Amino acid sequence: MQDIKELTLKGLEEKLQAFGVQAYHAQQIFTWIYKKATIDFGQMSDLPKGLRDKLKDNFYISDLKIVKRLKSSDGTQKLLFQSQDTNLIEAVIIPAKDRVTACVSTQVGCKWACSFCASGLKGFKRNLSCSEILDEILYLKKEALPLALTHLVFMGTGEPLDNYTQVLPAIKIINSPLGFNIGARRITLSTSGIIPGIQKLAGEGLQVELSVSLHAADEALRSRFMPVNKKYPLKDLIKACKEYSFKTNRQITFEYILIKGVNSSLSNAQSLSRLLEGWKLAKVNLIPSNTISGLKVEPPGKKDILLFKNYLVQQGIKVTLRKARGEDINAACGQLRLNYAQQ
Ligand code: SF4
Repeated sequence: MQDIKELTLKGLEEKLQAFGVQAYHAQQIFTWIYKKATIDFGQMSDLPKGLRDKLKDNFYISDLKIVKRLKSSDGTQKLLFQSQDTNLIEAVIIPAKDRVTACVSTQVGCKWACSFCASGLKGFKRNLSCSEILDEILYLKKEALPLALTHLVFMGTGEPLDNYTQVLPAIKIINSPLGFNIGARRITLSTSGIIPGIQKLAGEGLQVELSVSLHAADEALRSRFMPVNKKYPLKDLIKACKEYSFKTNRQITFEYILIKGVNSSLSNAQSLSRLLEGWKLAKVNLIPSNTISGLKVEPPGKKDILLFKNYLVQQGIKVTLRKARGEDINAACGQLRLNYAQQ
């Protein structure tokens, strides 16, 4: 038995043809699963009875259980799911003026243990399957009603490029007009800097946005709070990112969490500006850190944040400053899962 959500539209068409069934039925099946959130083949009333039976004999439709919902005063909603093997998975809906963003997890836990992130605190457990990632979105879509999801970010728990084989088909289904129909340029994949994954992604011909968690502009500091830097050092990462933007002609966003007393001084801003000097396809997104209990992490004051930002702007670097969202519900990645598991 195979989970039907592991198949892209093309993959499902091929399966149906192998059963001697017309490929166009795949479109109807996709509509039932992703537009109507059906989890029972028996309800797919426009399919011939024989095909429904064949589907039941060969496939199943996965589902997650919601175990907790939290809503922030700013509208951010966080959902905690339990998988069939009782692992906890978290996802977030972030409504804003002009968009509704779904933020999904790709792994249970994370092996990289960045010092500012709650996801790595309990280590890595396993990769999520393509269908579990899609299940997160199906639930977020339902919870967001009457608003529609317009953007999707792979910024929840886990490193998406360490789960490439499941994340790639998920992207195709999220982007498919018969799936979630979210435009490729509205899908952001965020990585801590897995160089082989970035190189592979550059060859996929996808128009998705790539965002790289940078958080420090010199090797020693980055290695201190991002262990991934010991395996994929900053200088190689920047080279791989430049090759990516050259090959795809796509802008890369460098995420930079500002942490008080760690990476938010003027001299840190100067190092960052030197690293990105003259690179037109680079943008920096500054994120004042959330305060995370259990980790010695707190944001710098407003004055220091603006000093950092203004220095980069003066050096001709494209900069945005992200507003913290969902602070009252612990919306930073991994926090809800961690709090629930500790209860
Ligand atoms: S920031 Fe990303 S890579 Fe680092 S521990 Fe958290 S989930 Fe893993």
